[in-house]
Amino acid sequence: MAEVKRVYAFGKNAQGENVTEGNTTMKMILGGKGANLAEMANIGLPVPPGFTITCQTCMEYANADNTWPEGALDEIWQYRADLEERMGKKIGDEADPLLVSVRSGAPMSMPGMMDTVLNLGLNDQSINGLIAQTENPRFAWDSYRRFIQMFSNVVMGLDGDLFEDAISAKREATGATTDAELTAEALQELVAEFKQIFAQNVDAVAYPDLVVDGAVAFPQDPTMQLKLAIEAVFGSWNNPRATLYRKKNKIADDLGTAVNVQVMVFGNKGNTSATGVAFTRNPANGDKEFYGDYLVNAQGEDVVAGIRNTSPISELKDVPGLEEAGKQLEDVFVLLENHFHDMCEIEFTIEQGKLWMLQTRVGKRTAAAALHIAIEMEKEGLIDKATAVTRVDPEQLDQLLHPQFDKDATYDLLARGLNDSPGAAVGEAVFSAADAVAATAAGRKVVLVRWETTPDDLAGMIAAEGILTSHGGKTSHAAVIARGMGAPCVCGVEALKIDAAKKQAAVAGTDIVIKEGDMISLDGTTGIVVLGAVELVQPEITGDLDTILAWADEVSRMGVRANADNPEDAQLARDFGAKGIGLCRTEHMFLGDRKQIIQSFILNEDEESRAAAIDQLFEAQAGDFYGMFKAMDGLPVIVRLLDPPLHEFLENGRAIEVEIAKLEATGGDPAVIEARRAFMEQCDSFAEQNPMLGLRGCRLGIVYPILPKMQVRAIATACAKLQKEGLNPKPEIMIPLVSVVNELALLRGVAEEVIAEVAAEQGVELNIPIGTMIELPRAAVTADEIATKADFFSFGTNDLTQTTFGFSRDDVEAEFVPQYLEQRLLPYNPFATIDPGVAKLVKMGVELGHEGNPNIMCGVCGEHGGDPDSVKMFDGIGLDYVSCSPYRVPLARLAAGQAALGHAGGDK
Ligand code: PEP
Ligand code: MG
Repeated sequence: MAEVKRVYAFGKNAQGENVTEGNTTMKMILGGKGANLAEMANIGLPVPPGFTITCQTCMEYANADNTWPEGALDEIWQYRADLEERMGKKIGDEADPLLVSVRSGAPMSMPGMMDTVLNLGLNDQSINGLIAQTENPRFAWDSYRRFIQMFSNVVMGLDGDLFEDAISAKREATGATTDAELTAEALQELVAEFKQIFAQNVDAVAYPDLVVDGAVAFPQDPTMQLKLAIEAVFGSWNNPRATLYRKKNKIADDLGTAVNVQVMVFGNKGNTSATGVAFTRNPANGDKEFYGDYLVNAQGEDVVAGIRNTSPISELKDVPGLEEAGKQLEDVFVLLENHFHDMCEIEFTIEQGKLWMLQTRVGKRTAAAALHIAIEMEKEGLIDKATAVTRVDPEQLDQLLHPQFDKDATYDLLARGLNDSPGAAVGEAVFSAADAVAATAAGRKVVLVRWETTPDDLAGMIAAEGILTSHGGKTSHAAVIARGMGAPCVCGVEALKIDAAKKQAAVAGTDIVIKEGDMISLDGTTGIVVLGAVELVQPEITGDLDTILAWADEVSRMGVRANADNPEDAQLARDFGAKGIGLCRTEHMFLGDRKQIIQSFILNEDEESRAAAIDQLFEAQAGDFYGMFKAMDGLPVIVRLLDPPLHEFLENGRAIEVEIAKLEATGGDPAVIEARRAFMEQCDSFAEQNPMLGLRGCRLGIVYPILPKMQVRAIATACAKLQKEGLNPKPEIMIPLVSVVNELALLRGVAEEVIAEVAAEQGVELNIPIGTMIELPRAAVTADEIATKADFFSFGTNDLTQTTFGFSRDDVEAEFVPQYLEQRLLPYNPFATIDPGVAKLVKMGVELGHEGNPNIMCGVCGEHGGDPDSVKMFDGIGLDYVSCSPYRVPLARLAAGQAALGHAGGDK
């Protein structure tokens, strides 16, 4: 026996006793599929027996350059012998062969990303045993040809078209219109042809073990078949689509996949056999109903592949010969929900009337369904409120905030399909994943139109606004993947006759042909497809989302505020449940007409013109703040004084130079040219080599104190006015980019003086806290000193990331961060999710800040405030609030609730 246990049995022995060694808690070892096969066997469900090889073995094999760890194969062969004993049959036996499936199963669900081989154990001898046992030569030969086809494609990497073409040719030659009409003889011929294709296309040098009598032959030895299949499943962990899926879903690369070797059961043994995929509730809207599809007389991946059109699961118990299994399946649904306390997804097969469970896992669902199911299950007493809060992935909430067709928009319905993943999308039709990626890279919005998607389409699916397929059911690849990604998707639009080669789709019953580049719209919530661009609107958030967010708020430690700089956004943020404004960037108030006024301030050196410009700016700002404070009445509004380098308010010198050159070339007025040149020189004089490290933030207020004075006066005046109107404005003043306490002390003094003046002038009492941003490493490490002059800290993690890494925040994400991610030099983009090094500075800032001022309020207002993973880290650091863009507020509220409950995120 090896030191490390690498293989675990599941299912029953020959005496009908459960010999399962694992359980559902062992996902990191047995993968999700293996752990739940074990659990199902443990709770008495009918699971075909088998064994699971651990994820750790996969990683050891991969890390040792695809060589087996010592003793691993021996242990596998021991479990194989045990399985044969349990079943009373041997793999490859010529009288009564045991057939097995070999399937991947990683700790995190990665649907369709890795490999599966079915019917393993068939060879030129055991086929005779299968014929004899089943008395069904057609079934046996079909099983053998499927095995050779899958083995060749999945294990040996041969092009699947080689086999599909041979099948098409055989159909044509025999006059069969579908595969089902191919006779046993035709299938037997296909087996011979497939073996030929195998022999011609497998490289003898790469696979010397497959060479028999000087030529490659399809492996007849079941041990060889099994070893190669397991190795292929291990290898599939690192195939490009699995790697891409992990990157997108933030799944670690070092988890590995388990391999499940399981006795085959057959859903294609005639009309009392079937196979299907089902959910215990509706995964699209969360309704309590059995949901899914089945196919009679079909095998394996036929349902998911969408190759034949399926029937709804609710009809199963009415199908003659399947009644018993259909009823038993509904009992299993209830049992699984009561056991796992969650909505489950199931794969099953019915073999000649007997039900077998092949897989169960917590089912993927849309955001709307996740909310609805969590609330219903709390009502049913299956889970408590805290668990309900953890059942929704914050990132998924974006789906609910996705655009939808404007109810008032008029459009002509082109076709209808299944409403597989909610949200609406508008874009140019493209007919391949590669075209979707290319068009998106060129800045165009596209809808990916396919007959059905495959895992190879993943990059195109990510790039597209929405996905449209003419085939496939609710559990097809396109539907499952799109739902997981939150991309709108309509499947099964049978009216579309797609010709991918010609890049067009004809619409049945019309003379319409959709060509590449034509605008189309789809609504994944209703299943509608429209030719042309439909007006989209943002949905309201009410009902279920409000309930879950209210439950999240009940447990949250951190508050959620919004980054907003106009009254409309402030109102939106309030509607989304923000408890104030954490950052009002006042520079955004100096756009449009206001730019002229601030330019006049910057460029005029005479005091009078400057004073006139300042007066105008004051009037404008007082109006801005009045609107903001009113929208947020009773809640804090943190107004940040001007932050960016001054030259950002001026014109670009290069653009003026071009203008002058044009004027000169066309004989322009010399006086105008002269004036433009003077203006250009003035603008240039404000240019800096490193503006983000230059005259910006509090430095601006120190060099031009009239600016903070004007802004503070506007804040205080707006506050006084609202107070007099009987409202309860709560402005706070924030000084940006402080690095030494003296900067803050100086500007605090300026602000306090102005506030006192306004209070006296207006005859009101003004209580306006003054704080600072912590966005430079020096500020973080001297936060104890800075806190003596601050009522609050707001961590500007955008600048703090920039200055901690020395990464220009405006450039590196496009320049080299992608390469860093590719080469795994960084695990993720530090401008999206807070880097642990930067988080350390935040932690230090919070701790030191409390030393300097025990009552200091601490928040975060960088982009990280709306990122669920970062929110969790901030909760651990002990921040009081996060602040993010209005549309991220619901997501941040949920993440804050989950963080308080110690939960990492939704079901992945
Ligand atoms: C920050 O630096 O994190 C911040 C919020 O300020 P800005 O992005 O405006 O520089
Ligand atoms: Mg900043």
